[in-house]
Amino acid sequence: MADNKLYEILGVSRNASESEIKRNYHKLAKEYHPDKNPTAGDRFKEISYAYEVLSDPKKRQTYDKFGLKGLQEGGHGGGFASDDFLGHIFGNIFGMDGGRGRGRARGEDTIHPLKVSLEDMYVGKTAKLQLSKNVICGPCKGLGGKPGSVVSCRDCHGQGIKVSYQQIGHNMTRQFQTRCPTCQGQGETINDKDKCSKCKGKKVLNEIKILEVHVEKGMRENQKIYFRGEGDQQPDTQPGDVIIVLQQKPHDLFKRTGDDLLMEREISLTEALCGFEFVVKHLDGRDLLVRHLPGEVIKPGDLKGIQGEGMPQHKNPFEKGNLYIKFDVTFPQNHFATEEQLKKIESILPPRPAFVMPTGEDVEEVNMMEYTASERSHGREEAYASDDEENMHAGPGVQCAHQ
Ligand SMILES: [Zn+2]
Ligand SMILES: [Zn+2]
Repeated sequence: MADNKLYEILGVSRNASESEIKRNYHKLAKEYHPDKNPTAGDRFKEISYAYEVLSDPKKRQTYDKFGLKGLQEGGHGGGFASDDFLGHIFGNIFGMDGGRGRGRARGEDTIHPLKVSLEDMYVGKTAKLQLSKNVICGPCKGLGGKPGSVVSCRDCHGQGIKVSYQQIGHNMTRQFQTRCPTCQGQGETINDKDKCSKCKGKKVLNEIKILEVHVEKGMRENQKIYFRGEGDQQPDTQPGDVIIVLQQKPHDLFKRTGDDLLMEREISLTEALCGFEFVVKHLDGRDLLVRHLPGEVIKPGDLKGIQGEGMPQHKNPFEKGNLYIKFDVTFPQNHFATEEQLKKIESILPPRPAFVMPTGEDVEEVNMMEYTASERSHGREEAYASDDEENMHAGPGVQCAHQ
């Protein structure tokens, strides 16, 4: 039977036009782009590869004639994907995965996201995940009926599909492929009376399975945990894997970058100048006492690091990243002190820079006032929109100082 997989990947028929292929490719590429759909795994690569072949008339012709194998053989040096790439990407659907299950088709992998907290990734955790999967029916051993009762479908000769032709012009016919209605695409039939009573001829049963997922210390967002061969079972098919993809829940305090943790902390001006202490509740429940000595000044935006209080390294959890604290300093409100008190403060703080009063007629004293960003842009718009001299010089409410 002709290899049809690349067409199936793009969801088009074998005689699809170039524009139809292009249209479907764009639609699927958008849907499965890793940025948008990070758990789709290799699907995006499959789509890209299918489009690479089918959008090129020469490659498409080779593929139509010889299938994927033809592309691989003609591929070396010709800009086609390497065997390795194909084996990796198409292993799932073509059963080409060397080593594992040679000669037997391989079922699809099942991908499950698992939400975990940053605490779980710090201390480690075993999560129990319940999932339903198909297993080969025990009583009939996946036959679907009594031995010998399963026969090749006579209507489709065991193909599962029926081909029909439609006259669409003088000398033209169109070819249709439809799922065989007699066997529902199975390619074989079982008499009702011979069907397995347990699976009703379906060959598989649905089962609830509990997986124990070990979230190890230091594991990261999007890290995959594989359960080899735990995917859906199907007769004559090597089951695919169950792949758990970790998704980290946002944390109230910490942000993670690699093995480092970052937190933000607001301190008062008094603390910034005179020192402070505070406690950070760490991911394993410890209270870290952070102390900053009086006299060591913290400026707004300062970043300080605490060595070894970041995340543990995966597989090497005694090595840890750093914890970084980014400081913001809140200043006191207007008129927080009397004139006398301010003089006192000034006497302690470093002296002001020297000021030299300019002389001559070009000196104008102006008023400085509260001015928010939105007012400013609004004022500017008005100024540009109008020829009015007054507006060109002043935003709303600002007194114009020229005579
Ligand atoms: Zn049939
Ligand atoms: Zn059965």
